Amino acid sequence: MPIVRYNGHNEKEALAEVLRLFYGSFESGSGQELIAGDDGVMINSRLLPANDMFEILTECEQQQTISHQITPEKFRREIKRQLYCQLELLTDTHFPWGSLNGVRPTQIVIESYMRNKKDEKATIVELVDYWRLSTEKAKLGLEAALAEKLIMDGLSSDDLFVYAGVPFCPGRCSYCSFIARDAHRMEKWLDPYADTMVEEAKLVFAGLSRPVKALYLGGGTPTSLPDSAFARLLEGLVRYVPLAEDGEWTVEAGRPDTITKTKLELIRQAGADRICINPQTMNDATLERIGRRHTTAQTITAFEKARELGFRHINMDLIAGLPGEDPAELLRSLDKLIALGPESITVHTLALKRSSDLQQLDTSSLKAASRPQAELSAAVEEAGRRLRSGGWNPYYLYRQKDVAGGLENTGFAKAEKACIYNVAMMSDRFDVIGLGSGAVSKKVEGTRVRRTSNSKDLLDYQQRLPELTERKLKLFQV
Ligand code: SF4
Repeated sequence: MPIVRYNGHNEKEALAEVLRLFYGSFESGSGQELIAGDDGVMINSRLLPANDMFEILTECEQQQTISHQITPEKFRREIKRQLYCQLELLTDTHFPWGSLNGVRPTQIVIESYMRNKKDEKATIVELVDYWRLSTEKAKLGLEAALAEKLIMDGLSSDDLFVYAGVPFCPGRCSYCSFIARDAHRMEKWLDPYADTMVEEAKLVFAGLSRPVKALYLGGGTPTSLPDSAFARLLEGLVRYVPLAEDGEWTVEAGRPDTITKTKLELIRQAGADRICINPQTMNDATLERIGRRHTTAQTITAFEKARELGFRHINMDLIAGLPGEDPAELLRSLDKLIALGPESITVHTLALKRSSDLQQLDTSSLKAASRPQAELSAAVEEAGRRLRSGGWNPYYLYRQKDVAGGLENTGFAKAEKACIYNVAMMSDRFDVIGLGSGAVSKKVEGTRVRRTSNSKDLLDYQQRLPELTERKLKLFQV
C-alpha cells in the first residue's frame, strides 16, 4: 500500500477520494503526504507549469510514470485519473467505472464523444483505455449520455424546474440516509407542514413569473400525509406553481403501503401525469429485513389500482445489492416488474451511507461491499439486457459515493417516457426551485451554480418562511 506525496498542487481531497476508493481510508502523513498502509510504495503526484497548460506527472516505484499536459480547469480530474491508473496496476483492482468515480460520469462521456467528433467507437476506446472504464460501462455510459443529451437539447436554458419535498415516511428503511421523519410519530406536524409548503409556493411564485418545465413532488414519502393534507398540498401546488402547458408533473407515491385509492384519485385530480411506485425489491423477506413495512402483494395492488385509475406513466425503482439478497434476487424482482409493465424502471445500487442504520450495523463488511463485486456487476448488466430487450432503454445515469460494487443508478424508460426532471436535475445545467424543509434551490450561471437551502428543522422552516423565501427570490433576481 502506498504513500502518496504531492507537490506543485494542493489537491489533497482529489487524491484522498481515489485512495478511499481502493483502501477505504487513509491517514495524513507529514507535510504533503497521504498514507494508506505501511509497506512504503512511493507515489509522487506532481504538477508543473507548461506554457498555458499544466503538466501532471504521477510516478510510482516499479511502474511507468504517467504524464499528461492539460488545461488548468481540468487538472484536478487528471490528477485523480493518474493516481487511479497507478493504483489499478499496483493492486490489480479494476473498478467498473475506472477513474470516473464522481456522481456524473456521463458529463465526461459526452465531452469525450464531442472531442472524438461524435465517433462512438473512438469514444468507447477513450473511455476504456484512458479513463479505465470496463467496456460494458463505457457502452452504458455512452448510451445514457446520448439519451440525456437528446433530452437536454430539447430544453431551453431558461427552463425552470421545481422540486417539492415532504420529509416524512411511514418508518425508516435501514439503508436510508435521508432526514426522513416518522409520519406516525410526527402526526401533529403533517397538516401544518403541507400548509407551509403551499404558502411557500404562493410566496415564491408571486415574485417569480417563469413557466415551470417540470414539477416533482418527492420525499420522503408524500403519500404518508393524511388525505386532507395531501389534497391541500396538491391543490396548492397546482394553483401556485405555473407549470407550462407541456410541463411534466410527477408525484412520488413511493412506499406501496401508503398508496390508497383515495391518494391515487387525488393525484389524478391534480393532473399529475407521472407517478412512482417504488418496491425496491419484490422479495418479502428482504423487505422485512430492510425495515420497509410493505409486501410485494401491496406493490402489485398499488400498481393495478393506478392502472385502473388511468395512470399511463408509472415508474418503479429497484435496488441492487440489498442486505441479505444474492445478486440473482435482483433479476427475480426485475422479472416481476417487467411482467407488470411500468413505463420506466430505475435500477439503483445500494449506497452505503454513514448516516444509515445499515452502516452502524456492520461497518467492515459494508466497506468491503463497495469494492468491485463480479456477481453483482453481472446481475446489474443482465438487468440492463433484459430491460433493453423489453423496450426500456437507459436515459439517465448517476453514481453515488460508497456504492455497492462501485456500480451506478440507471433510469430505463420506454420510448417518450423518460423523466425530464431527472435528467435536468442531475445535469446541474438548469435552475431549480426547492420547496419544503431542507429543499435546495439552484441558480445556474454559466459553469457556476449558486445554491440556497431551506432549513432542515421543521419549526425553523415554518417560522422563517418569509425570510427563506426572500433569500430564494434574491437568488433568482437577475
Ligand atoms: S422511503 Fe425512502 S426516504 Fe423514506 S425512509 Fe425509506 S429510503 Fe428513506
